[in-house]
Amino acid sequence: MPPPAVDPAGAERAPRENGRSDRALTLALVAHDACKAGLVECAERHREALAAFTLVATGTTGLRVLERCPELRLRRLKSGPLGGDQQIGAMIADGTANALVFFVDPLSAMPHDVDVKALLRVALVYDIPCAMSRATADLLMQSAFFARR
Ligand code: PGA
Repeated sequence: MPPPAVDPAGAERAPRENGRSDRALTLALVAHDACKAGLVECAERHREALAAFTLVATGTTGLRVLERCPELRLRRLKSGPLGGDQQIGAMIADGTANALVFFVDPLSAMPHDVDVKALLRVALVYDIPCAMSRATADLLMQSAFFARR
């Protein structure tokens, strides 16, 4: 078996063959309050594509998604302001979260703004697919990244 690839950030990645990972991919979902309805609507429209993933979400976001899409395999973490963003950041860093849909409210100040920045920064460091708007989330969920599942 070939040794695991090591990315520039020093994290080991799962062995890949023809660009495919051997393990199920995990998609993380986060939406600020003003954006939750948009994320839920997006999840409903793409529920079949999402069903192929393991999902994790910050607490309230996950609750809203599960209310409308109860069939999805989704693990709720802590609420964002209580550490949920940091939990997802840690999952990205250790390779257990592989893509991020994060609908950030651009018009409101957040008490956990530093956590928001840290989550986006770590998503960039590990270069995972990351959608921050409904338009980009639609593109991501129609992409080969989702289709190959
Ligand atoms: P929530 O957290 O899903 O628990 O509301 C999201 C956030 O504000 O980061």
